[in-house]
Formats: sequence, C-alpha cells, structure tokens
Amino acid sequence: MTATHPFDTLKSTLDPKAWSEDAGELAPHARDWRGRYSGSAPILFKPSSTEEVSRILAACNEAGVAVLPQSGNTGLVGGSTPQGEAVISLKRMTAIRALDTANESITVDAGVILETVQNAAKEAGKLFPLSLGAQGSAMIGGLISTNAGGVQVLRYGMMRDLVLGLAAVLPDGRVLSGLSGLRKNNTGYDLKQLFIGAEGTLGVVTGATLKLFPRPASSSVAVVSVQSPLEAVSLLDLVKSLTGGAVSGFELMPKVGLDLVYGHVPGARPPLEGGPEWCVLIELTSGEPGRAGPMMETALEAAFETGLVLDGVIAQTETQAAEFWALREAIPEGEKAHGKAVKHDVSVPVSKMGEFIVEATKKAEALVPHARVLAFGHVGDGNVHFNLQGREHGAGDDFLKAAEPATTLIYDLVDAYDGSISAEHGIGILKQAELKARKPVEVAVMRQIKAALDPNSIMNPRVLLGPER
Ligand SMILES: Cc1cc2nc3c(=O)[nH]c(=O)nc-3n(C[C@H](O)[C@H](O)[C@H](O)COP(=O)(O)OP(=O)(O)OC[C@H]3O[C@@H](n4cnc5c(N)ncnc54)[C@H](O)[C@@H]3O)c2cc1C
Repeated sequence: MTATHPFDTLKSTLDPKAWSEDAGELAPHARDWRGRYSGSAPILFKPSSTEEVSRILAACNEAGVAVLPQSGNTGLVGGSTPQGEAVISLKRMTAIRALDTANESITVDAGVILETVQNAAKEAGKLFPLSLGAQGSAMIGGLISTNAGGVQVLRYGMMRDLVLGLAAVLPDGRVLSGLSGLRKNNTGYDLKQLFIGAEGTLGVVTGATLKLFPRPASSSVAVVSVQSPLEAVSLLDLVKSLTGGAVSGFELMPKVGLDLVYGHVPGARPPLEGGPEWCVLIELTSGEPGRAGPMMETALEAAFETGLVLDGVIAQTETQAAEFWALREAIPEGEKAHGKAVKHDVSVPVSKMGEFIVEATKKAEALVPHARVLAFGHVGDGNVHFNLQGREHGAGDDFLKAAEPATTLIYDLVDAYDGSISAEHGIGILKQAELKARKPVEVAVMRQIKAALDPNSIMNPRVLLGPER
C-alpha cells in the first residue's frame, strides 16, 4: 500500500486553479528580485479567498509541512525565497473590497498591488501615501508583513501606522478577522500589530483596511546640492522649521548613485550642473492650493543665505517633479546594473544621520579599499541605505565575500549611534545572525510568541528567527 502524500487530499479538495506543481510556473516564485537567493518549492498554492488559505494552512499544519507566504516577491532580505517550503502566493487575492471616503479607509485583499491601491485612492480624491520603488509589484500582504517604509514616512509613517484593520489566518486555520476601519478600539492587545513586520512567521495576512488621507492641494519638489550629509541634516531642520510640517519627502542622492542612474537608465538627466557630490530631493505638500511652491521658495532662499544649500532647482511642472522623483527611485536599478553590492538598510536618530554617514564611510572604505560607499535614501526619517559596491563595474560574489567584514563594522557603529540594523527591509535570512547576536532578549521573547501561535513551526521557519541554534 502506498502512503498518501500530505498534499494529495488537499489538492483533491481545492479548486484546480488554487495550486500548481508546474516547474515553469513555480520558477519565478523560487528566486528573489536581486538574484541573490534561489531555491525550490514542492508546490505553489494560489488561494483566491481567506477560506481557501485557512484550509491550506490547517492541512499543512496537520501534516507538519512548512509553508512560505509570498506576495509580490520584491523583498530584499531573502525572506520570500522558498527552500523546500510550500509557497502560498496571494497573487489571486486581488479584490478591492470597499472604499469609504467619509471614514478615509480602503479595504483590500492581501494580493492587491500597492500602485493599484494608490490609484483607487486617487480616483476617490484621496491619498494612500505609502510609496516605494517596487510599488508596481509589491503587494499589500508583503508590505504589511515587512512593515514597509518608503519615501513618505516622514509625513505619514510606515505601514504599521497605516493599517486600521487586518485579516490573518493562523497556522491551525483559525481566522482573525478584523477588517474594520476603526480609529479607536481599546479591547486589549492590538493583535493586528503582531502580524505587521512578522515576515510571515505567525500566519498569512489575507486582507487589510488601510488609512487614506486628503490629497494635498499643492506640492513642490526641488533638488538642491549640499556640501555633505551633515549639511543635509541641518537643511532638513531648517526646512521643517520654516514650513510647519509640510515636508513629505527628504531624500539624499549622492553623485555616485546619480551617475549610475545617468549611465544605466535611458533618458535620465542631471537636474543640476557640475555633478555635485551630494544632492537632496525635497518635497513639500500643503492642503492649501498654490501654497507649497511659495513655501519652497522661502525655505530655499533662507537655506541659500545660511550657506546650507549650494545650488538648487525647483520643479516647474508636474512632469519635472516626476522626473526628479524618478532619479531617486532609479538609484537601486542603477546600482543593480553596476554589479553586486553589500547592502545595509540602517537607521539612526535623524539628528545623528550626517555624522553617521561621514564616519561609517571613512571607516568602511578604509577597511575595504577596493569598495566605495553608496549612501542614499530616506535621510528625513533617519534611514540610509548604506551600501558598499565595487569601484569598477561588474562586481560579483568574490566582491561580496571580500567586502563582508564591513557589515560588522557598520552594525557596530549603528549600535554605537543607538540605531537599528534594519530600518525598513526586515530581517529575512540576510540579517538573522546579526539580530540574534545583538538582540538576544528580544529574539527570545519573539520565539515565545511564535511558539504560542505556531507551535509546529510551519510558518516561514527559516525566516526572521530561524532555527533555535
Ligand atoms: C526596487 C525596490 C525598491 C524598494 N524600496 C523599498 C522602500 O523604499 N522601502 C521599503 O520598505 N521596502 C522597499 N523595497 C523592499 C520591498 O518592496 C518591500 O519589502 C515590500 O514590502 C515587499 O512586499 P512584497 O509584496 O514583494 O512581499 P514579498 O517579497 O513577497 O514578501 C516579503 C516577506 O513577507 C512575507 N509575506 C508576504 N506576503 C505575506 C502575507 N500575505 N502574509 C504573511 N507573510 C507574507 C514573505 O514570506 C516574506 O518574508 C524595495 C524593493 C525593491 C525591489
């Protein structure tokens, strides 16, 4: 008598569209966006409802089969690449369930792509502010599970701040159903927060109610040059104090990053003459029509007078503003085309950001002389992507190995600055050892929570916490 495989019964009870064992269909689900991780999965589940997710999880839990939830597969820390786990893809759960303009909320399935949510909000005259380079592919379930950040955190917060309600399936198949748009709900532990940033280790997020905001009536985008990251931080302080909370984006763009964009992205043009070493993209928004532009002019005049800004250009049209943003968003693309890089997504208090970048760059380039630092990104919220890349085009795995010691140096410095080794990308596989070494008590508490919710450890067992030893 042949033993039945745990998937056989499950497959026979599911809609045939809800699973696949086809190698061609599985392949893109088994490698990551950066080309750094690849693996395999015995099966791809493609549920179309929370109820189907519940049945799949209950059966896998019963059989002790490990699963890996996957949304857009744009994660950058190896957390969405299977190594033998069954993949549960949310790609067929794409409904926008409700949009409530008076409550300023939208309820969506976990497989809805971020850009689709932004567009739905826009059509309703509202704003969903989460915005990041992967917004054409990243999905709400993944964005919640990694507590994604992006370029508007300064004004609107991270995903954790944008979720009003959540639906999640526990490993044993029970459904936590909290898709309410309540802004006040004091009924004990805020369970939804457990799943935000959990990287799929506690259950599968199947839907969410998200906060919407009024659309700004005016906005202004500028690119300015500054002497160094130290002046960038002082500039942020000045612009904030002159604009009364209107800063919605403040992004550091170094010459080394922009040059990669001009070299690799067709049509990209330098906004300022002379290729300054450090640029900052500033975005101001206002609820008042015609207000953001004059605010930007006043702030930049003051910044020129104090010598904080060396040169600058204010976008004259929406197209030009979009071009400036496109330069910023294309830095990871340019970086990828240049070669492999040792990446660090770190945060320190905003006030210490400039000092941190200067000190870390000096020390990292001294430690790995054939590497150069590319430090860019969300300096307005104390988050910098601090990456080491080859000085020449085409660095590969040898470079990654040689530059590896810089990671400990950078993380030690992050600790010294009271920062975090993961600002917005999460832990995944990439940062697991560092997390365990640096946060033993936190890791132990997280393990206790996981043991309570996922006693058979079927949910993403290699990710975030990983095996006990
Ligand atoms: C070009 C580019 C730019 C980026 N810019 C930013 C940025 O500015 N800010 C930022 O924060 N991130 C950024 N990222 C990283 C990435 O887009 C985010 O981590 C995003 O949140 C991942 O969403 P996803 O749908 O692709 O999730 P996936 O990659 O599919 O999954 C990410 C993790 O969440 C788990 N997971 C996925 N779906 C679920 C679910 N439904 N339930 C439970 N667990 C789940 C997975 O198992 C995995 O551990 C960028 C990525 C790229 C490629």
